Amino acid sequence: MNDYMKTEGTLYRPPAEANTFLLQVTAGCTHNACRFCNMYRDKPFHLIDEDILRRNLQEEKRICDIYGRYHKRAFLMDGDVFSLSADKLEEKLEFIRRYMPSMETFSMYAAVRSIKNKSDADLERLKDLGVNDLYIGYETGLDDVLTFMNKGTTLADSIEQADRLHAAGIHHRALFMLGVAGKGRGEESALAAADLVNRTKPDMARFITMTVFPDTPLAEDVAAGRFVEAGELEILMEERTVLENIQLPETHFWASHVLNSIPLMGYIGKDREWMLKRLNRSIDEFDEEKFKKTFKRTHL
Ligand code: SF4
Repeated sequence: MNDYMKTEGTLYRPPAEANTFLLQVTAGCTHNACRFCNMYRDKPFHLIDEDILRRNLQEEKRICDIYGRYHKRAFLMDGDVFSLSADKLEEKLEFIRRYMPSMETFSMYAAVRSIKNKSDADLERLKDLGVNDLYIGYETGLDDVLTFMNKGTTLADSIEQADRLHAAGIHHRALFMLGVAGKGRGEESALAAADLVNRTKPDMARFITMTVFPDTPLAEDVAAGRFVEAGELEILMEERTVLENIQLPETHFWASHVLNSIPLMGYIGKDREWMLKRLNRSIDEFDEEKFKKTFKRTHL
């Protein structure tokens, strides 16, 4: 984010959007209740004031004019811009285009429930307005884990809404967490996640290792014994099973977050073999004591 932009709170964007123009249109998340999430706890969901949005767009346009280079893609933040109604989204996209007529694609995070709340005609209209590459947090392919984590959605919803996005021509990128089902369920969780990827057909399947942050309800669950974290070796084996079972050659597998101990990314079709070799070597050579001393997960 440019330091001349006025923004609210900590901003999060997908690593793949590191070179994209970032614009805060809303603050917070309408759900704000997933047990593992600490991203927007202190930030109630609201629209960014239009004067601030205008000022930020004017500032960015001024810089674009200086360099003679104009954005074609924007990533809209915070966590839940797609929860706006189709009419409100259209109004915001048109507002942005007034300052940036070169804009072709608007990417953003989208919750399954926010897709469900829109009609097929809404989705087609948004596609025509440039909405694409939605990032959807499926998190897991297991319904009981979705319930436990208070995700507010079901597996059936995820599959149905992905089908509707495909029908409207909107691409999406799926977000999952390794270790989300807890100790002893890695293999089951991996098979379910790979199955969900195969059914929902995202362009990208992103797998980040779940981390229990201290200021979350999940940390209380761990303290009370309601949730037992999987160890790193189980997580690496879970990742291997996911990789072995995704059947979409064109899908980009991405597990290179700072929270992943073994950075891996590549296309399932052409890169799976070397990714599995690397993962297998790490599993074969895994040393728990060394891992604990050398790898710490502290922040997203
Ligand atoms: S994980 Fe996503 S939907 Fe859940 S509380 Fe966090 S930002 Fe909201």
